[in-house]
Amino acid sequence: MSTLELGDVTVTRVIEIDRSSFPTASMLPDSTPDAIARHHHWLRPHFWDDRTGDLASRVGTYIVKTPRHTVLIDTGVGNDKPRDGSPVWHMRQGSYLDDLRAAGVTPGQVDVVLCTHLHVDHVGWNTRLVDARWVPTFPNARYVFAGEEWEFWRHEKDECIADSVVPVVETGQAVLVDADYVVDEWLRLEPTPGHTPGHVAVRLGTSAGEAVFSGDLMHRTVQVAEPQWSSRFCYDPAKARDTRRAFVERHADERVLRERRPAMRALIALAAAALVALLPPSVQASHLKEQPKKHKVVYHLDEAGLDKVKFVLGNIENHIRGVGGPEHVEAIELVVHGPALRNFVTARLDPALRAALDRLQSQGLAFGACGNTMKAFNITLAELPQGARPLPQGGVVRVMELQEQGFVYIRP
Ligand SMILES: [Zn+2]
Repeated sequence: MSTLELGDVTVTRVIEIDRSSFPTASMLPDSTPDAIARHHHWLRPHFWDDRTGDLASRVGTYIVKTPRHTVLIDTGVGNDKPRDGSPVWHMRQGSYLDDLRAAGVTPGQVDVVLCTHLHVDHVGWNTRLVDARWVPTFPNARYVFAGEEWEFWRHEKDECIADSVVPVVETGQAVLVDADYVVDEWLRLEPTPGHTPGHVAVRLGTSAGEAVFSGDLMHRTVQVAEPQWSSRFCYDPAKARDTRRAFVERHADERVLRERRPAMRALIALAAAALVALLPPSVQASHLKEQPKKHKVVYHLDEAGLDKVKFVLGNIENHIRGVGGPEHVEAIELVVHGPALRNFVTARLDPALRAALDRLQSQGLAFGACGNTMKAFNITLAELPQGARPLPQGGVVRVMELQEQGFVYIRP
């Protein structure tokens, strides 16, 4: 285990599995042994695994401690999970939690879990098995996922989504965010789509330099030199290639890779599967500025009747138009609880209502569905419109929570 200090921030890597389950020839179908051999002189020894005679790759977690938060980036494969894809992943009994403790972090101390994407080897320790149920491993953490990534996976019949993602959505610990979400003044997300639809990288800015946790933007370090090689697991290989090329070019243009190579090498040695690049501190400020504050508002809807529901959505549209458009609203959320929620079940959704909701969601409206009502009326999340978010603590508690966060309360 190695810890890197960057200004006020420390980065520690906990390796769960220290070798790849897939040979490079299979992982990067466009690569050839000859092409890879041309890069051996710089790939060895840091990015090479003598045991497999192949390029190195690891699965694990980064612990990032900023002055405000203890953050985990990606959570590996997990224990006790049935995984047909790989014998190394199947029903694991690994020492991850002990390793995390050895690195100075207990599960209760984790404030934020960031998943670069929702693949099986990045979400596993989100949950653990307790009394035959999957429960969040980190009881006090917010689990931050890109909204677009969750939208893609929520309808897939994928066992890792069911056992490692849905349970944290159900406890209300999941926070769905935009792909450029700011975690704190040191960490923020950046969209890097292609490997999966909502894949994000995590950028760290400190007084001593900048680093990027690139998730599966690259699977092998050789892709820095051969960015056109996408992996066999990329959802959109062409887009993954474009994103990777832009990433490499962006940092090469800043002469980062060349001039800072020794430092970067050391970092990559720590990072291995994830590329970590150093940038001059002067580049940081522009990346890490938060947007100026605008007003936040929560609309509360509980009365049944299509007319009432349409009236409230019309109110919200007028509201957004009245303040000069969605760019003048910081956050707007519609909390639906009680009989009104039945009007939003997709199978019987009124076309005019559906159109209004689509327009509003495209303008940033968050749609929260009371979990108690969902249970009472037997409504599942899949039956609600795209983008709906369950509120397990109930609609009223959510309204209170938003008011505590400075939201203006409106109940038309
Ligand atoms: Zn992946």
